[in-house]
Amino acid sequence: MDIIVRKYGGTSVSTKESRDLIAKDAVELKRSGKYPVIVVSAIGRSGDPYATDTLISKLTDVAQDVSTRELDMIMSCGEMISASIMATTIASKGEKAIALTGFQAGIITDDNFSSANVIEVDTNKIITHLKKDEIVVVTGFQGISKSGDITTLGRGGSDNTAAILGSALKAESIEIYTDVDGVMTADPRIVPDAKVLSNISYDEVYQMAIDGAKVVDHKAIEVAKDNGRILKIKNTFSSSEGTIISSDELVDKSNIDKNLITAVTARTNVSQYTVNIDSKDEKNETLLVDMEKRGISIDLINFFDDRKVYTINTKDMNKMNLILEKLSLKYFVIEDCSKIAVIGHRINGIPGVMKRIVLALHKRKVEILQSSDSNTTIWCLVKSGDTKSAIKILHDEFELSK
Ligand code: ADP
Ligand code: MG
Repeated sequence: MDIIVRKYGGTSVSTKESRDLIAKDAVELKRSGKYPVIVVSAIGRSGDPYATDTLISKLTDVAQDVSTRELDMIMSCGEMISASIMATTIASKGEKAIALTGFQAGIITDDNFSSANVIEVDTNKIITHLKKDEIVVVTGFQGISKSGDITTLGRGGSDNTAAILGSALKAESIEIYTDVDGVMTADPRIVPDAKVLSNISYDEVYQMAIDGAKVVDHKAIEVAKDNGRILKIKNTFSSSEGTIISSDELVDKSNIDKNLITAVTARTNVSQYTVNIDSKDEKNETLLVDMEKRGISIDLINFFDDRKVYTINTKDMNKMNLILEKLSLKYFVIEDCSKIAVIGHRINGIPGVMKRIVLALHKRKVEILQSSDSNTTIWCLVKSGDTKSAIKILHDEFELSK
């Protein structure tokens, strides 16, 4: 059975025209002898009536402290609406189709509501319907806990559903359709001449996803890598070739630029704390222990004799302020910074990359608040107002649109 899994994001399913296009493609695929499994996200973006953010606001309008179980319950409705509309659209074009919820599709998760982990997939029901020559439409982003509660898989979770189902069904192809031509050298909304990467390794695109390129979810990449499945990222609205994500050995090197750098991305909502504390002070340890206890994860970190500099997610600021005040520590915060990532698996051991980054930003008066590097990535923290210009400057510096 040649199964093809195709996932469509919120903008891809947002209009009748786009849903007609998707349905037509699914019908053609079926008639060519393949077995399509279509994974859909909720229809539209924030503000649209059934979009995930709109559904969340139905609860947060009622109370501030909403239970994540109830949030998952309401959020899951978005994909159910989308899946049943999509199955009906496909059926209206003359092929049999059926919509399945995460539960019906056999996606079993733990009960970590709003960010559940898939622990098991029972594909029996999907296979039964495929054998009946039905095109199966599955709700993305959701599963069911062992105790029978609806769970969701976290933001970007529909990509994860596609990778999980594609792996469990041993699909011939897993295709993630979105509103851009593939994985690009930068977010095309920020850098209009960003270039599509025809091939990229799991590891590089994983780093991009972690560092803010929302084009594909990091968990989906992890699942595909663990199961040795290739992911294809394509544009719902064009016939461009898209991006193939695979292991480094399979990446077609002839198509890759000679570029040292693959992409520039940014993660927003990072806050930088400078804490005035002497290295010998016992409160250093207490601070770290308290942060861990409160679930605050530290990102960048720099130690000086008289001060320590941490970056944390902005959402954790209230908790961080409370801890520091309780310890009577003096501190200074720069709220809402962005962590710019310059990613390239070939930068390892090549001198001068950091110099080029620092000089390029300095010349254009973008202040680097903090920086760090690994074998594959150089990160620079900048003020949020500098995010877009820093991305553009670095994209230009490494000539990524060439
Ligand atoms: P979907 O709803 O289809 O899942 P997303 O909004 O999650 O779509 O992801 C697609 C968006 O990701 C694009 O519209 C684009 O603006 C953004 N994006 C950010 N970084 C990149 C990048 N490096 N390459 C491609 N798209 C990117
Ligand atoms: Mg997405």
